Amino acid sequence: MLDQYKRKIDYMRISVTDRCNLRCRYCMPADGIEQMACKDLLSYEEILRLCRIFAQLGIKKIKLTGGEPLVRLGICHLIQQIKQINGIEQVTITTNGVLLPQMAEELIKTGIDGINISLDTLQRDKFLELTRRDQLADVLAGIERLMELGYKNIKINCVPIMEINGNQIAGIVGLAKKYPLVVRFIELMPIGNITGYTAIHRDFIMETLQNRYGELVPYQSSLGNGPASYFSLPKFKGKIGFIDAIHHKFCEACNRVRLTSNGFMKLCLQYNVGVDLKEMLRSDADDAYVKQVIKKNIYKKPLEHHFYDESVAQIRDERNMFQVGG
Ligand code: SAM
Ligand code: SF4
Repeated sequence: MLDQYKRKIDYMRISVTDRCNLRCRYCMPADGIEQMACKDLLSYEEILRLCRIFAQLGIKKIKLTGGEPLVRLGICHLIQQIKQINGIEQVTITTNGVLLPQMAEELIKTGIDGINISLDTLQRDKFLELTRRDQLADVLAGIERLMELGYKNIKINCVPIMEINGNQIAGIVGLAKKYPLVVRFIELMPIGNITGYTAIHRDFIMETLQNRYGELVPYQSSLGNGPASYFSLPKFKGKIGFIDAIHHKFCEACNRVRLTSNGFMKLCLQYNVGVDLKEMLRSDADDAYVKQVIKKNIYKKPLEHHFYDESVAQIRDERNMFQVGG
């Protein structure tokens, strides 16, 4: 499926819940969150129906996200069912990793094609300060468990923020020295509450790593569905990656759409443009009609984001990351 700028759209991120067991400061307030009513969440039947329709339209890769996707009951069964849909080649998940110690085995049994774990610091006090929960040990045990089980496709996603992990970049990257996994740095975006936080530029990270570990050599093979650039370091089992949506804009190659947990198909991370599919699913619309509406909307996908451009403020999305899924 192509949009009006001839971009091939083959990747969908589905947020299965807005609930989370952490409260990362840049993503979610400590309390007072208005959680979505259960009746407004898409049911698994509705998600599966949409996945089938999207697959017919050319979506090949699906990432499950949240909130925290592992807190939604029955998530492993959902993964198994999505994997059986004709045309879907890859199902992956992004998780904060807290529930991995008890869920890793069941998750791997689904045949999941990739597990992304968000982890910004390896210091217990900083983890507690950032996520407002003392659960770093669970995340590390989860990574260890995946390793014990021989799981290969793991990415650690770290948002580099001067005030949180500015002095720990080399330490976090050490995970890719110890384990055959990819550590990726995801640039902080102006979504949610980022007041008081300073994004760390890729050049600073690269310099820190070269000083500590040696030359970063560009790695050409693709390791994911997105626009990351990858590097190897001497004596490392894993790789290092960078995704800088602001400083290295990759909109011209954007291949994705998003589905929020209440069924809004979102066409660009920045804007509140898209279509509410939930009401359509709950009316008597048939698949052919839903498909036509999706196709028409994807065609209109915006050309690019303009974060930090005040002139587009009126169409900026007020949803936070935990409501969109990253
Ligand atoms: N709870 C899961 C997790 O943390 O992986 C999935 C949802 S979470 C919203 C997905 C990703 O969005 C996490 O890696 C998180 O660090 C990232 N994120 C949240 N707010 C962000 C922001 N303002 N800029 C960049 N990444 C952000
Ligand atoms: Fe939860 Fe993920 Fe947001 Fe952290 S980043 S609060 S883990 S949804």
